[in-house]
Order: sequence, then structure tokens, then C-alpha cells
Amino acid sequence: MGEMTWQAERFAAALREKLQETLGREPSLLSLNEALTACSAAAEKVCAGRPMACAPGCPSCCVLNVAVLLPEAILIAMRLRKTLPPSELSHLQRTLSAHRSWTRWMDDEERIIKRAVCPFLDSYGSCCIHEVRPLACRGAASLDADCCRKAFSPIITDDPRLVPADLLRQAAYDEAFSTLGKALKSSGLDDRSIELGTGVLAFLEEPEYLELFSGRGRLPDSLWR
Ligand code: SF4
Repeated sequence: MGEMTWQAERFAAALREKLQETLGREPSLLSLNEALTACSAAAEKVCAGRPMACAPGCPSCCVLNVAVLLPEAILIAMRLRKTLPPSELSHLQRTLSAHRSWTRWMDDEERIIKRAVCPFLDSYGSCCIHEVRPLACRGAASLDADCCRKAFSPIITDDPRLVPADLLRQAAYDEAFSTLGKALKSSGLDDRSIELGTGVLAFLEEPEYLELFSGRGRLPDSLWR
């Protein structure tokens, strides 16, 4: 624990320095992308070469609540806007809206039982936003796919849903997430986290939210209700 705490502090200090420089500039898609890339690169450096059982087509855990910081939601929304044809984008927006209404008050256990899978999973069980997936998703790495399948099966059970996971990877990404949140705050930007689908849908439906965020305004509180 002592070693992990010391590493975490050093990791956060180095990342904070990079983020201060990036977010100290006028906020833009480029600077937000640079900030998120710095977070992922720093965390990946910590866990380079470590084993993981996760692979495309193994989406067992893609049913849990995912929280993102607003720059993550912005960059996912912009990527979807850029890459999807209008009809697919409209279909995705309807799917995100329906998923948000359905899962709004569900905790993780209810999501598992009801198989409320992430709306970004494609029909092959792969993440359709893999390149820009959230920090929280990047930090989740199982060491045993069979354990995941059992742990996330939609059955009512009193047994704990245990998965052997790479705790160092998770700690590195958690630290990157929290360091980014603090850097957003100290740059005067909205530092609140939001449920993944809700955040992405907000920036797809209301493109002016990007201007609001970049102008150091706060998004409407109603998004969090
Ligand atoms: S964003 Fe991608 S990796 Fe994350 S939960 Fe959804 S499908 Fe899974």
C-alpha cells in the first residue's frame, strides 16, 4: 500500500503538470483531446505489458454504470458525429435516449439482472467507440474471462460478484480520472462527472453545450436529475 500510494502521488504530480499546460490554453477539441490522450498514455505506461483476459467480443462487464468527465463525453459525441451517417446517428440518439430513461435509477445489480448492456456495444459484442472509450472502461481489466461471464450472469444471487482484476491498471486509471477532474476545476472548467450515455447524448442533442463548456460555463443541472 505504501509503494502504491507513493507511485500514485508521483503519477498524479507528473500528469497534473501536463494537464495544467494543456488545459491552461483556450479550451478546444484539440486541447481536450490532448488532455485525454495524456491521461491514457500516463496510465498505460504504468500497466504496459501486464496480462489481461479482455478481448473484442467479450463484453460481460459492459453492463455496469460508467461515469465520464465532460471532455470524455464531448470527444465521444464529436467522433460519432464525424463518423456516423445521419440515419445511424439519429438511430443511436434514439437508443441512447431510451436507454437513459430505462436505466436512470438502476444500480449495477439491477443493470446486471436486467442485462441493461451499454448502448455502445455492437452486435458482435465489441465497443463501437473503442478508440475514444472512457477512462473508466480502459481501467477495467479482467484476469479471467470465465469468472466475468459467471459474475455478470443475470441471475439473482446473494454471492458476491467477484472478478480477478488488474488492480494496478484500475488504480492508474482512477488516478488519471481524478487528476483530470482536479485539473478541469483549477482551469475554471466544469469538472462534474456524468453517466456515459447521458453525457454523450447531451452533446449530440445540444451542440451549443460545447461552446458553453469551452467558455467555462456550467451545463444545466437538469442533466444530472
Ligand atoms: S463504452 Fe465500450 S467499453 Fe465502455 S461499457 Fe460501453 S461498450 Fe463497454
